[in-house]
Amino acid sequence: MVTRPYWNKRFVLWSLVSISGGIGMVLFGAYMSLCFESVPTTADARWLDTTLDTEARVEDLLQHMTLREKIGQMALVEKNSLANIGDVAQYGLGGILSGAGAKPATNTVSGWSTMTTEFKEAALQSRLGIPILYGVDAVHGHSLVPGVTVFPHQIGLGAAGDADLVYKIAQVTARDLQATGVNWNFAPNLDLPQDMRWGRVYEAYSDDPVLVSRLAAAYVAGLQSQTRAGTTSVSGVLATLKHYVGLGAMQWNTSANKNFMIDQAVTPVDSLALQTKYLPPFDAGIDAGALSVMVGLNTWDGKRLITNHDLITIALKERLGFSGFVVSDWYGVYEGRRSQFLATVQAINAGVDMVMLPFDYQTFVRQMVVANRLGLISIKRIDDAVARILRAKFVAGVFDDSTLPRAAVVVDESALARSAVAQSLVLLKNEHAALPLGFAARHIRVAGSAADNVGLQSGAWTVEWQGVDGNWLPGGTSILAGIRARAPQTTRLEYAASGTFPGQTIADVGIAVVGETPYAEGWGDRLLPTLSANDLAVIAALRLSCKKVVVVMVSGRPLLIEHELDKIDALVAAWLPGTAGGGVADVLFGGQNFKGTLPLSWPKTAEQLPLTLSGETADGTAVLFPRYFGLSY
Ligand code: BGC
Repeated sequence: MVTRPYWNKRFVLWSLVSISGGIGMVLFGAYMSLCFESVPTTADARWLDTTLDTEARVEDLLQHMTLREKIGQMALVEKNSLANIGDVAQYGLGGILSGAGAKPATNTVSGWSTMTTEFKEAALQSRLGIPILYGVDAVHGHSLVPGVTVFPHQIGLGAAGDADLVYKIAQVTARDLQATGVNWNFAPNLDLPQDMRWGRVYEAYSDDPVLVSRLAAAYVAGLQSQTRAGTTSVSGVLATLKHYVGLGAMQWNTSANKNFMIDQAVTPVDSLALQTKYLPPFDAGIDAGALSVMVGLNTWDGKRLITNHDLITIALKERLGFSGFVVSDWYGVYEGRRSQFLATVQAINAGVDMVMLPFDYQTFVRQMVVANRLGLISIKRIDDAVARILRAKFVAGVFDDSTLPRAAVVVDESALARSAVAQSLVLLKNEHAALPLGFAARHIRVAGSAADNVGLQSGAWTVEWQGVDGNWLPGGTSILAGIRARAPQTTRLEYAASGTFPGQTIADVGIAVVGETPYAEGWGDRLLPTLSANDLAVIAALRLSCKKVVVVMVSGRPLLIEHELDKIDALVAAWLPGTAGGGVADVLFGGQNFKGTLPLSWPKTAEQLPLTLSGETADGTAVLFPRYFGLSY
């Protein structure tokens, strides 16, 4: 009677031992086969022959690579996470990145150049000497390096709506990146923000796919230095279209990241909206030659984007014909997953070509080898991924790095930045002839948290991920300094951040420069995007001490300001202008007219959020200012 269960137990036990033994053997076999993987000779190498076409070079190089070398190319590692610099060659890494704020020991152009040169030289020590990509987020100029001109954040350029301007800024950015040896930029951002509560609104141009497509194409062409008509020369810098796809319409309180509310959240749009609204900007960027695409950290249709084969392989690569490579976002493959192994298998099979690990490169290489040996990731998929990465490196001129023009110092581009700032300003209200400030404004008072703070007006992704505070950026001009320089000599100009001025005098005009302190990503998610109590107090104080009040709003998104509107004479959206604050005064004083229009609708209340893809409210109530609204003199 006890025999059967006893036998069953023994049988089960025996089976378990054999199965795990079998798996162990396969894994052991995988490792052994890797150790004894035959290494192709390089005697017949032809990939450095520049007379061959790109595809022939890619094919040739691929044939000379071992499995481990191929997997190394698929890894993108954060620079401070490298165990030692020798690992760059030992693992044959495809790319290194400076996560925002990861700077060289000396944060100067030459400090960057020295650092990137070390990584590049380390890569050339590998058996095949495949050059490495070095990536950063130069999302509004090469803004991680103090002293390099910081341009308006993308939202301001969306307001300016000028593709030639975007093209020029991108060209300057590429040149500045080259000067520091950086050859890969995680820009432009093609998200379509519809919810002002999101901390990344300012990173995008607009929520209008048509405008975004136009500016994205210009940026890619400028950054990769192709002429507007087609490919001629290359800058040696790769652009990245991010974040693929559907970012901007997420649902509040659905974030996969417990620190955030709407960043990394669920995108509820349907497949038609995804195809007709969110895909076109990527299509335009691809047509312009973009060499990489970054997959977002969102969830769509119940799945994390990173695992979506239909979107990454079929829609992006097959239908849109994208021949560059797909990179995952920061820790995006592993985020929230119990098994890194299964997460890797899923993402690579979905079509991710390079993984922004950013720390676990040793594990990644081991797991990829095992996944391949177990038949979970085919060599065909790995070859496709690596071919895409190599192709991008060849096309961008990364293999010919030493022959590319490279300045030792960066040029001051504040004139271009200043004109970009002037073009990006949007005039939302102007009554009682408050603007332009003419000779009649003989006594002006300036106040507010954003009036005299270049760090604040530059926003995040400036030197540090979350931005900086104060006026110490070399070459930076605060909005106040710009006003001082521009005001007629006969004008009496007073400044007090608090808006409180001594005495009983009433000034002609008060300018309240108010707005947001810098934030990046989900750290800027805010249930009620409004002005701070401090800023409201400044506006109230100026109303008491000035005949007219002009509010200049320095913010990464439209802030809810309906209740203030009747109490002020003029309202200007200045977005996050960057280091060239003088551009604001150029327009306030009438030296130039207002040209900007709203790149997204300005809501009245938080209840109206999110807006629809046509920039309207879901309940049919009127927004405060519709998309493309903008007054002029
Ligand atoms: C952001 C990306 C950025 C990447 C690298 C991520 O947190 O979502 O936009 O490119 O970090 O810094």
